Amino acid sequence: MKIRYFDNAATTKVKEQVLIEMFPYFMESYGNPSSMYSLGRRNKRAIEDARHKVANLIGCNQHEIYFTSGGSESDNMAVKGFAYANKNKGNHIITSKIEHHAVLETCENLEKQGFEVTYLNVDKDGKVDLEQLVNSITDRTILISIMFANNEIGTIQPIEEISKIAKSRNITFHTDAVQAVGNIEINVKKLDIDMLSLSSHKIYGPKGIGALYVREGIHLDKFINGGHQEKNLRAGTENVSGMIGLGEACQIANKELKNHINHLQELRDYYIGKLKEKVEDIKINGSLSNRLPGNANVSFKDIDASTMLIKLDELGICASAGSACNTGATEPSHVLTAIGLEPSYSNGALRITFGDDNTLEDVDYLINCIMDIKMNMES
Ligand SMILES: *Cc1c(COP(=O)(O)O)cnc(C)c1O
Repeated sequence: MKIRYFDNAATTKVKEQVLIEMFPYFMESYGNPSSMYSLGRRNKRAIEDARHKVANLIGCNQHEIYFTSGGSESDNMAVKGFAYANKNKGNHIITSKIEHHAVLETCENLEKQGFEVTYLNVDKDGKVDLEQLVNSITDRTILISIMFANNEIGTIQPIEEISKIAKSRNITFHTDAVQAVGNIEINVKKLDIDMLSLSSHKIYGPKGIGALYVREGIHLDKFINGGHQEKNLRAGTENVSGMIGLGEACQIANKELKNHINHLQELRDYYIGKLKEKVEDIKINGSLSNRLPGNANVSFKDIDASTMLIKLDELGICASAGSACNTGATEPSHVLTAIGLEPSYSNGALRITFGDDNTLEDVDYLINCIMDIKMNMES
């Protein structure tokens, strides 16, 4: 059966060109970049070339990019690394209730160590409460960490306003941009962002590699100790092929950004338009105007989305639900809870996230399957 993949916020398929670029680093150019001989040394140059491509995509300097094992590690490195390095300046961190668990759990971990964390509310569209942000700031506040765009509902935060607030109070601003990079235009200098997390496998690169942008002059504590790789901030022999793959994925994302956005928006708008025509009671979760181009999180009233997912899987469709079934009871996600969605809608939240490979024909198939399943579930 043909697989139709609509879960690009969970992960993406590696682009062929990315894989081709990675190949030589397994069996030909396998030297350790720290070695004296050229088989290793030339890999150092290849890594710097990849670092340059990552930097280009977000508008920073090459030496401000640190490679990590992915988005989760980048978030940990930014939040913990900054908190530990600056604990003499203050112990207060501000984040939001709808962050990815990589930030939320990191903050909870810091709370156990004496840090204080404010988790900002969001409105019904998932936008953070800026007034609460301003009012939460104290002279102990050292870091604000707010995601660029949400992985469940696609809402894009007012990043420029947040960084202005942070700057005016001399507070460092980190953003988890794992969902935003490669899907919207980002320039960290224009937006005045201090730290930014990104991940390769969300932008058609390999899994297990990511990067953290750290503005020059910001000091982080090293938390993987060992060798002096990544300017002595992260020890361990470099994942050379992964870095090359991420570099290539960034270069393609940069070149194709406009086409990519237009394509995803077309599919998304077509899907939502058709659903609105065909289904009486749906609710679109997340902001309609400030939204990732490929995200369609739609609630079907009184339909159990996890049951629908199983039936979609049988028809070759990969998608995601906004709630998880825990021991028989359906628990809405922390994001759907934070936007105040009633259970009759949150249980029926189906997240479709489009990708480069999807076509309008795929979307027609998806809609037909949803309509059939829905009819069977209601009868
Ligand atoms: C996927 C994701 C992460 C985690 O990235 P990994 O590379 O899988 O560790 C973090 N934040 C957001 C918003 C994500 O979507």
